[in-house]
Amino acid sequence: MRLYLQLKYIEIDDSQNHQLTQDWLARLTPLLTGQNNLFQLSRNAVNTDAIADAHLDLQAEFSQRISDYTLDFVSRSESKLQQSGEQLKQESDWFVILIFCAGVLYTLVVALTNWRLISQGIVEPVIATSSAMHAIANEKPHTPLPQTNNLELQQMVSALTTLKRYATKVKSISEIDGLTGAFNRRYFDQRLTVEMHKSMQYQQPLALLLFDIDRFKQFNDRYGHVAGDECLKTIVKTITKVDGVTDGIFARYGGEEFVLLLPNTHREAAFNLAKKMKHAVRLQSIPHQDSEFFGMLTISIGLCCTTINEKDCATTLIQRADEALYLAKHSGRNTIKVDETD
Ligand code: GH3
Ligand code: MG
Ligand code: MG
Repeated sequence: MRLYLQLKYIEIDDSQNHQLTQDWLARLTPLLTGQNNLFQLSRNAVNTDAIADAHLDLQAEFSQRISDYTLDFVSRSESKLQQSGEQLKQESDWFVILIFCAGVLYTLVVALTNWRLISQGIVEPVIATSSAMHAIANEKPHTPLPQTNNLELQQMVSALTTLKRYATKVKSISEIDGLTGAFNRRYFDQRLTVEMHKSMQYQQPLALLLFDIDRFKQFNDRYGHVAGDECLKTIVKTITKVDGVTDGIFARYGGEEFVLLLPNTHREAAFNLAKKMKHAVRLQSIPHQDSEFFGMLTISIGLCCTTINEKDCATTLIQRADEALYLAKHSGRNTIKVDETD
């Protein structure tokens, strides 16, 4: 009876305490179904059919209540199980979404890392190699070549190194006079155009010296062409050593004629330099039996100096220096003549 009364309390509290319910059932079961169940004990005790019937009714009612309660318990458990299942499903959906996002993020990180590696290892060296190639093709053979760990690009860079060597050679051939090592006419013409433009732009004087070896044909005739070649080399060496010459552009203009272009140089300074050049050649004391100057080789120099304006062109500047040189030759050689047009 005490257990029966306890059932009310358990019904109220069941949602919170399943353990209590299970204990209650465990204690009740042997009382109802065991060998010495309550009814059997009662029947034995009172030994009357009426009491036994009453107990049977009570037993039936108990059984009914227990079965109702069990059904209710099972159905509530089922609904809770269903709720838990739905919650689990919802959580697993979120988990799948989370995994998907993490996958996308990972893919992006991998792609970015790979792109960085590809960019640094391939794209940048390819661009650098291509730029170097263009620079070399545009007569800049001293362009530094890129360094790379990529095998194919290393082969390209190696091929470019060979190309660079050839480009340097070609550039040198195209700018340097093979015999004397001075700049050639082609290079000089390019620089003359540039320096004339600068002179006009900045309104600075531009001086031009044209010199020619005196009686060189006779030198060749007497000493031979090989000696003549050696003499040309000596002249270039001598002139290059004169202080101030390397500030200008010194070139072999043709045959035994040489030219010196002096940007931003006034006439007087150019004239002084011309004197030093003439003196330096004289100091070499190159024997020339047909020379009227103590049997030594001499040079004649024509000089012009002007600040370039729109009317001037390279040809007129050269012509003015050439005319001065012609005057120097006709006034006896081994001398300097200055163009006085300005
Ligand atoms: P001038 O005093 O009037 O200048 O008389 P020149 O004999 O020096 O002048 P000309 O123009 O009559 O002769 C120039 C000579 O220079 C003719 C040529 O054989 C010689 N020559 C030109 N280029 C070279 C060269 O590369 N090597 C040698 N050995 N001689 C050269
Ligand atoms: Mg000549
Ligand atoms: Mg001459």
